[in-house]
Amino acid sequence: MEKTLIIFKPDALEKHLVGTVLARFENTGFRIAACRMFRFTPELLKEHYAHIAHQPFYPPLEQFMSSAPVIAMALEGDNAVAKVREMLGPTDSRKAAKGTIRGDFGTDNRVNILHASDSPENGLVEVARFFRPEDVF
Ligand code: ADP
Repeated sequence: MEKTLIIFKPDALEKHLVGTVLARFENTGFRIAACRMFRFTPELLKEHYAHIAHQPFYPPLEQFMSSAPVIAMALEGDNAVAKVREMLGPTDSRKAAKGTIRGDFGTDNRVNILHASDSPENGLVEVARFFRPEDVF
């Protein structure tokens, strides 16, 4: 069984889409292993997005991601990382197919509903970034 880290971004909460999106994962058979609501500090966001922190689009991304609380979850299931990414669709919601989460609910290449780990290795690192071991069930 593999774990992946998802984060409902501020637009998901603002649009009241957390339940709708989570239902897709639960209906697919994923199990919630951990859950937490918090607001990103600039420091934590820079750690999480270290691979893009130097990009010109990072300052508006930081503004967006820390504009309101988010909800992080660890999901567990077979092939969880790849399957969740497939259900999510590509980064740019405008290019995401209908039927994917970003294609159905996202706005553009910044405001795109959900973060999800992009490899099993990052899944382990990201779950550990947001959850203490005793808070993962
Ligand atoms: P993903 O979330 O699909 O794994 P990345 O890790 O490349 O994508 O980027 C992290 C987040 O940064 C994206 O989900 C999106 O919110 C934002 N982002 C990525 N590329 C752009 C861009 N070209 N312009 C604006 N925001 C972007």
